[in-house]
Amino acid sequence: MAQTDVIVIGAGPAGLSAATALARLGVAVTVLDREAVAGGIPRHCNHPPYGLREFRRLMRGPAYAQRLVAEAKAAGVTIRTQTTVTFLHPGGRIDVTSPEGVETLAARAVLLATGVRETSRAARLIGGEKPGGVMSTGALQGIVHLNGQRPFQRPVILGTELVAFSALLTCRHAGIKPVAMIEPARRITARSPAIWLARLMGVPVLLEATVDAIHGRTRVEGVQIDRRGTLQDMATDGVIVSGGFRPEATLLRLSHLEVDPGSGGPVIDLWGRLSDPAYFAAGNLLRGVETAGWCWAEGRRVARAIHAALLGQLPAPEVARLRLGSDAVRLALPQVLPIDRPKPSPADSGAADGLQLRLNRPAKGRLRLMQDGVCLMDRRIDSLPERRITLPLPALRSASDVTLTLEER
Ligand SMILES: Cc1cc2nc3c(=O)[nH]c(=O)nc-3n(C[C@H](O)[C@H](O)[C@H](O)COP(=O)(O)OP(=O)(O)OC[C@H]3O[C@@H](n4cnc5c(N)ncnc54)[C@H](O)[C@@H]3O)c2cc1C
Repeated sequence: MAQTDVIVIGAGPAGLSAATALARLGVAVTVLDREAVAGGIPRHCNHPPYGLREFRRLMRGPAYAQRLVAEAKAAGVTIRTQTTVTFLHPGGRIDVTSPEGVETLAARAVLLATGVRETSRAARLIGGEKPGGVMSTGALQGIVHLNGQRPFQRPVILGTELVAFSALLTCRHAGIKPVAMIEPARRITARSPAIWLARLMGVPVLLEATVDAIHGRTRVEGVQIDRRGTLQDMATDGVIVSGGFRPEATLLRLSHLEVDPGSGGPVIDLWGRLSDPAYFAAGNLLRGVETAGWCWAEGRRVARAIHAALLGQLPAPEVARLRLGSDAVRLALPQVLPIDRPKPSPADSGAADGLQLRLNRPAKGRLRLMQDGVCLMDRRIDSLPERRITLPLPALRSASDVTLTLEER
């Protein structure tokens, strides 16, 4: 059985940045990806903004992905494409399938960086017929940028998070003119300046609206929209189902590793370590979608934690569990918190320096972290699903559970 120091599963920004950082520290790293070409999602996002945090340059996705791959190779990382990981065993052994056949690989540490997938039409319970021309933003970008095709002329876009605007940019690039963006909430999910992109392209944004049904025999011919209780038909030849990101966690769910029911991703500690300490995780797998720069930085940080683990220097402190006490909160990371704050500084140890939260629905009110009946933190929030919320790490009093509550107003 082939053995190395570290195996990284997923050659996107998180996996490649971690692999590069580890290789620069003298660690033998192999990155595995099921796609024929490494680079992750940015490979088919042929628009900016990528690269500002990492390379201080505004880049398009494919150029950014190529640069990440080139840096990893220059650092000595082995990248194996067309290699799908099919099973995770305890202790860092994994099964893979590739053109060479089926094999088992082993490493002292395995980093999971498998990213996210968008929620499908079926999972969103949209009724009507099942014509061709309904796809996610990722699928659209693959068709446009990798295959050079134009799947429709005037689609509707479901969603207004950042990736829905990425779909808008892709349409613009391909000469496609969407007829509308459709958003169930009262405001767009991306930060408000994003709406100017839709305005500049002359694409109306319908708020407080949902698509109830898709119509068409072989191709999409129209959708039925429910806007504040009033039904209307809209002619369109395609539907882009954007967002609703969920971790690409099939491997996790099949494995012995603990899964967080809220995020759908792994349960991690401050160092990105999973319930089996041979496994770590970074990037979108943890939460749903973040920017590439964020995932890249997270990969580098978790690489420091893995390096410390290989040297036997990663602390295994007494821990407390972070629990959710509000149905408005979808996830809070890390779920396992040390009682003693990491020393030396978080930057040296590879520890996260804060908590990350996401909501299930639009919500505002007071977020509180409670332990042993004592309030450790009290913050006002007014946010939407898919938006980043961060909190400083609380100073814990004991190993008992920490509960996150939201008193809504
Ligand atoms: C449509 C879209 C547009 C975006 N636009 C922008 C933008 O303009 N700017 C920006 O900063 N961010 C953007 N993002 C976000 C950014 O691309 C992602 O945050 C980033 O790519 C996440 O990096 P990652 O490494 O976590 O995962 P990914 O990039 O998703 O990489 C995960 C990799 O894991 C591989 N994999 C999964 N399972 C297996 C398995 N079992 N075996 C082997 N390999 C596996 C996949 O093939 C993939 O290559 C966009 C995201 C999307 C979806």
